[in-house]
Amino acid sequence: MNFCSECAHPVALSIPVGDNRPRYVCSNCGAIHYQNPKMVLGSIPVWDADGDMRILLCKRAIEPRHGYWTLPAGFMENNETTTEAAIRETVEEAGANIQLHELFSLLNVPHVHQVHMFYRATLLDLNYEAGVESLEVKMFAPHEIPWNDIAFQTVSHTLKFFLEDHAARKNGDTYRFHTMDILKPAPRADSVPAN
Ligand code: ZN
Repeated sequence: MNFCSECAHPVALSIPVGDNRPRYVCSNCGAIHYQNPKMVLGSIPVWDADGDMRILLCKRAIEPRHGYWTLPAGFMENNETTTEAAIRETVEEAGANIQLHELFSLLNVPHVHQVHMFYRATLLDLNYEAGVESLEVKMFAPHEIPWNDIAFQTVSHTLKFFLEDHAARKNGDTYRFHTMDILKPAPRADSVPAN
């Protein structure tokens, strides 16, 4: 950031007294601007007719990853709960009516300052339609999932966990909670910086 959100003076990075990492500090009014991770909330909307299970995915109409498929998800807003955010994003992106179940996955993505969470959900009807942030909304059987065209690693890992748990239910297992840290891949030793 460049300017103070309190008084619009330029800010500079410095470590405040008693702190241990650089923050954007205003030299005019003294405001310290803390920046913390953002929460991304989404759902895994499922339609299961007599064991013929389908998962609802959205094709993104916006950057990043325009044209790639994702579970409905987006940034949590102030003054809402995680479940409210997951339902709202599913309505906004997929026009889908869902019943939310328990939290299924939590994925840390520290290098982009995000935490992604997905809830299991049941589609209540098939009246879904693409919202303004989606090009297309479509149900996929497990073998139809477009793995090479999934927008984000958090989504592909969540889908993989979900399909593994779903398949294991035949043995009497049930869905369990999954967590994972997605770390930035280390740059190759022989790679040349772009600038
Ligand atoms: Zn200021």
